[in-house]
Amino acid sequence: MKRAIYPGSFDPITFGHLDIVKRSAKMFDEIIIAVLNNSAKNSLFSSDERVSMIKDLTASCKNVRVESFAGLTVDFAKRMNANIIIRGLRAVTDFEYELQIAQVNRVKNPDLETVFLTTSLNYSYLSSTVVREFASYGEDISEFVPSEIIPLIEAKYKTKEKKDGK
Ligand code: ADP
Repeated sequence: MKRAIYPGSFDPITFGHLDIVKRSAKMFDEIIIAVLNNSAKNSLFSSDERVSMIKDLTASCKNVRVESFAGLTVDFAKRMNANIIIRGLRAVTDFEYELQIAQVNRVKNPDLETVFLTTSLNYSYLSSTVVREFASYGEDISEFVPSEIIPLIEAKYKTKEKKDGK
């Protein structure tokens, strides 16, 4: 049984992430999307909200599960009995950072392999940061994220505006 984890913040999940999920689900028996619950990072959505959104969006992929985790990815992979980590590569700028993380992870667990999928060209510019930036200015984000989660993202910025008294 080839079980792989796909870790990330997914704040929020984009078409780029979903593309990696769909493609890797064809390569492995089971994919666990691992949502990082990092209390130090000021995230737009709580980890529970992110898990629930991703579960809804991947409900039709039978070999995909969604979990949240805190701490090191290697430790989470071990707990899940997975020895493959999937990461997406958008550009050379991702590569240096990703290579370092993959090597550190292998030092901690030599059985752990990191598999990189290169982004589909049409999503190579896309990141959760871009989505948040556009949404914060009320710009159209329909090319970046599935329509189901657009109202949830917009609602976050509306409550923010209210809080800031705008
Ligand atoms: P992190 O917070 O660790 O940067 P992200 O949630 O942004 O994680 O992304 C998780 C993974 O998805 C990373 O491997 C990242 O490179 C990949 N990824 C993000 N956006 C895209 C995209 N547009 N196309 C392909 N892979 C992507």
